[in-house]
Amino acid sequence: MFGQPTLINNVETFACVPAILRRGAEWFAAIGTERSKGTKVFALAGKVKHTGLIEVPMGMTLREIVEDMGGGVPDGGQIKAVQTGGPSGGCIPAAHLDTPVDYESLGRLGSIMGSGGMIVMDQQDNMVDVARFFMEFCRDESCGKCVPCRAGTVQMHDLLCRLLARQATARDLAKLEELCDLVRNTSLCGLGITAPNPVLSTLRFFRQEYLDLLAPEPWKPATPPAPSPASADTRPQPPHPASPWLPKSSPSTVRKSAPPKGRASSRPPTRRASASPPSATWRA
Ligand code: SF4
Repeated sequence: MFGQPTLINNVETFACVPAILRRGAEWFAAIGTERSKGTKVFALAGKVKHTGLIEVPMGMTLREIVEDMGGGVPDGGQIKAVQTGGPSGGCIPAAHLDTPVDYESLGRLGSIMGSGGMIVMDQQDNMVDVARFFMEFCRDESCGKCVPCRAGTVQMHDLLCRLLARQATARDLAKLEELCDLVRNTSLCGLGITAPNPVLSTLRFFRQEYLDLLAPEPWKPATPPAPSPASADTRPQPPHPASPWLPKSSPSTVRKSAPPKGRASSRPPTRRASASPPSATWRA
């Protein structure tokens, strides 16, 4: 800033400095994993008995944090997922609860350490609604400087709302995934780059919940289906001369309709009768 080097750190980082000065760097480096050193403060919240701020050594598993420290889901409920990293983090399914909490392991599951948010979800939570909730936050927090984040978060939030209203089709879902890639790869700063994380991680681990919300595709293919032999021509047909089962007095012979008396007897036939309207299938 003003032509001088600038160093920006957060309070959590500054809080480690006195302990490191008192006990030494080796003591601090002995805490944590090979590449993620020290401790981390999490804000534990959601469907968990004991909520609040906790400080844990890096490398502690998600299960130890949410079940042992947090006490698990109240009333005997089951953990469905844990969202880490704040609004632009990712949702980690219960199958991965034994993952050590460090930067590398969370990254491999599509999440981040981020601001240290940790939200526990149970079986009652719909993961599409969870993604919509966090996308709403990212949309509101976008500063608007770059188009991918400014417009992309609005569009992604809109598509998630349409999904929840059962108005989105498979094409909309494909568009949502496309937008996630675009916003992640072209936004200017970390907010836009990580905003698609809740959608991408829930699509990765809970895709069926998105598919269950899809509306039927209203658009029909351009090629008409081949008519079945029975329905190829519904006009009355003269009986086959060799039809043995038709009674001799069958009325199914084609009769020419007589023109009304006194008019139009000499008018050529028009094509109006054959211009039948499209079937309901094609109008849909
Ligand atoms: S990505 Fe960053 S710079 Fe771009 S609009 Fe979002 S918050 Fe602003």
